[in-house]
Amino acid sequence: MRITDLNSGREIGANCMLVEFGDYKMVVDAGMHPKHIGKQSLPQLRLIKGSVDTIILTHCHLDHLGSMPILVREHPKARVLTSSSNTLFARRLLSNSINVMTRQKEETGNAELPMYTPSDVERLDHALTAVPINNPRRVGRGADEVELTFHLAGHVAGAFGFSAVHQGKRVFFTGDVHFTAQRTVGGAEFPRTPVDVLVMECTRGATTTVPDMSRSTEETRLLRAINRILDGGGSVLIPAFAFGRMQEMLLFLDEAADRGQLADAPIFCSGLGLDLCDYLSDASKKTKQLKFDRRVLEDLGVIALRKEYSQPGKRMRQAGIYLVSSGMLVEKTPAWRVAANILDDPKSAVFFVGYCDPATPGGELIGTPKGGTFEFKGLDYTATIRSEVERFHLSGHADREELIQFARDLAPKDIVLTHGDPPARAWMKEALAKALPGTRVHDPEPGKPIEL
Ligand SMILES: [Zn+2]
Ligand SMILES: [Zn+2]
Repeated sequence: MRITDLNSGREIGANCMLVEFGDYKMVVDAGMHPKHIGKQSLPQLRLIKGSVDTIILTHCHLDHLGSMPILVREHPKARVLTSSSNTLFARRLLSNSINVMTRQKEETGNAELPMYTPSDVERLDHALTAVPINNPRRVGRGADEVELTFHLAGHVAGAFGFSAVHQGKRVFFTGDVHFTAQRTVGGAEFPRTPVDVLVMECTRGATTTVPDMSRSTEETRLLRAINRILDGGGSVLIPAFAFGRMQEMLLFLDEAADRGQLADAPIFCSGLGLDLCDYLSDASKKTKQLKFDRRVLEDLGVIALRKEYSQPGKRMRQAGIYLVSSGMLVEKTPAWRVAANILDDPKSAVFFVGYCDPATPGGELIGTPKGGTFEFKGLDYTATIRSEVERFHLSGHADREELIQFARDLAPKDIVLTHGDPPARAWMKEALAKALPGTRVHDPEPGKPIEL
């Protein structure tokens, strides 16, 4: 078999992998780079020669899904195999990204935008084919036959990893994986049986695992911090990804409220995240691949945040919890706008609950000490940071030690690293060489095939 990483760089970026089993061509994911726009944000799809036989969509985060309409437009005969819940989410998320690209076009004048249209999304929607979890599915024929089996990956609603067997050779793709249970999804249910090749994500390869720090200790710390700010009359901004993380946080707040441990204050959420609550609720009933009930919104009395923001620098009209996207405080998103009313208020706080790329406004804010300044470009406003800014570690990705243990259990001859920044890949490479001395570890150069 031959694997070519089609991501544009050795980073998380636009995930996409071409996997060739003899003449049979399979593409795993086709994401869009969150920090680039236009053609620059796409994977290197032009390196695919000939037609793709099967496409696999592991989950609906945009770094895996965002370019899928283009891949399907270029390879209209390929089916897109995915989990049944992903077939319910993909269209809604892609319609939102058309809106984002249309807005970017107005702001930047970039003529390449939007990169696809509603009819491209429609075509992808028709190509989506739900494959049952833990149930082998054969694709291809004769010497090309590949047996695929999907396994839930934790991480986010609908996410799965999968094994592919071709002519007796076994390969396992983790996709984005989380082994610990969250509220909307359980931990990954991956088989721990030997394979020949393991393709493994390594998002947290450069993140030191702190002893005694767990999801539950971080949640306790977060809840105390929220209550302290609310009791003092301030507002809490929780920037959260609209898909997955926002629903996780709603369930977290609801459980605390049920136990009588959440200070009484209004909770505001924004558009896409609220909409996705309906989609997750629906998928929860139809597929049993996740757990979420939209009634949590009524339980908590969630108020839809209208886009009538206060003037930058002024306090929010109503103190409360603002659980709004984006998770990385990307410019012009609701979280970024609310931050303009929070940052210079010593009574208020910004609590990050997910990963922030250092190059995003969220990453920049985390790196700026109290008393420093934060510029809101486009609002003509610079805030002096007087509020609390804190990170809570509630990642949806496996710890590096868990990944090493997983690799040990699968004892592959070859490991291909993916979905990680250079320091994460470097740590994994070294740690894997120690843990599995007989295994070859590949950190693929983008666009260059590896024969396995
Ligand atoms: Zn993901
Ligand atoms: Zn990802």
